[in-house]
Amino acid sequence: MKDVETIRNMSVETDKIRADFPILSRKVNGKPLIYFDNGATAQKPTSVIEAIVHYNNYQNANIHRGVHTLSQEITIAYENARTTIQKHLNATHPHEIIFTRGTTDSINLVAHSFGKKYIGKGDEIIISMMEHHSNILPWQQLCEEKGAVLKVIPINNDGELLMDEYKRLLNNKTKIVAITHISNTLGTINPIKEIIEIAHSKNIPVLIDGAQAVPHLKVDVKELDVDFYVFSGHKIFGPTGVGVLYGKEKWLNEIPPYQVGGGTIKTVTFEKTEYADLPLKFEAGTPHIEGGVGLAAAIDYVNAVGFENIAEHEHELLEYATNELKKIAGVRIIGNAKQKASVLSFIVEDVHPFDIGTILDQYGIAVRTGHHCTQPLMQFYNIKGTIRASFAFYNTIEEIDTFVAALKKAITMLK
Ligand code: PMP
Repeated sequence: MKDVETIRNMSVETDKIRADFPILSRKVNGKPLIYFDNGATAQKPTSVIEAIVHYNNYQNANIHRGVHTLSQEITIAYENARTTIQKHLNATHPHEIIFTRGTTDSINLVAHSFGKKYIGKGDEIIISMMEHHSNILPWQQLCEEKGAVLKVIPINNDGELLMDEYKRLLNNKTKIVAITHISNTLGTINPIKEIIEIAHSKNIPVLIDGAQAVPHLKVDVKELDVDFYVFSGHKIFGPTGVGVLYGKEKWLNEIPPYQVGGGTIKTVTFEKTEYADLPLKFEAGTPHIEGGVGLAAAIDYVNAVGFENIAEHEHELLEYATNELKKIAGVRIIGNAKQKASVLSFIVEDVHPFDIGTILDQYGIAVRTGHHCTQPLMQFYNIKGTIRASFAFYNTIEEIDTFVAALKKAITMLK
């Protein structure tokens, strides 16, 4: 770890970045906002906000259907956004990028469409103990409908997948593996390349839930050879209500449409419909146009900051905060994986997480408390919930100092 002085100088650099995020200059309960709830949703830089405003002020029209100038302009902007995402993920084709409403929507799409074609009675689907409900429920529902079986990769106490158990679970009934890249509750970075390689050695496709990964890491779908990779715009500093499903062309061509309607067709008669080619086959109805354009602006922004810089800064924040929390009596960190993103979950002995969160809010500090949509994981640790501080590249060491001081005060008040 760097010495504290060097880290503080990094924070000076961060101030330049912070100026790009208007919300970071506001006060909450009379105190400067300290936003440590980035895992729930991240803040938007001015460039994203301006892209959305520009669309609404000057470009508003529907896409793909108009001959008029506005419609053509925004169609080009929307398709350019798709290309920005394709390049960012290093996908082979723009049409492998499907715009959705977010991670949850993307997983539902795959569970529904892949499930309809490939899942039958007695088949098995593998997920893990640390999945977000959004990567459990669609598969659980599919299993109930089809008489299939959900298998769960266990974890150790540090919050790491038991890879030998994973290998043991795979068999000729396994039809798909769906795993989170980074746990939203524990911060664990899973070895997804290895997970994918192992599944592929048995010809089993893999979906990766990248909701928590894309703000922290550069994802290369070609290098990973992943079959489906999903994420949400709002966690990567873009708009809510928009997300991405990357799918290999082969899979997207093979699986049936999810929702159908306007936009998804070539020809319709009352007798029969011929569906559109990719990506429109999966994009029913008028999409979240400003969302797509805003998401592309967000991706341009994070690339301008640079993922190496992001990783380095966030790693320092995580290490510093972890060391500080370890010094506080009664604090127990939940999730001690060797490979961890800047997500720090903890509990305080004999104190309800909600009470800590409420007091921290009085100091202008936004953290998340509760089960983080990972109730089975809470059951594994035999806890009701945690307090989660999740850091982004615009957070600073000074903010962590304020947070730690406020946390100590909260503990004193509540014990
Ligand atoms: N998966 C993970 C790992 C998440 O962290 C989240 C959001 N907390 C989701 C899925 C769901 O994302 P969304 O609500 O944007 O669909």
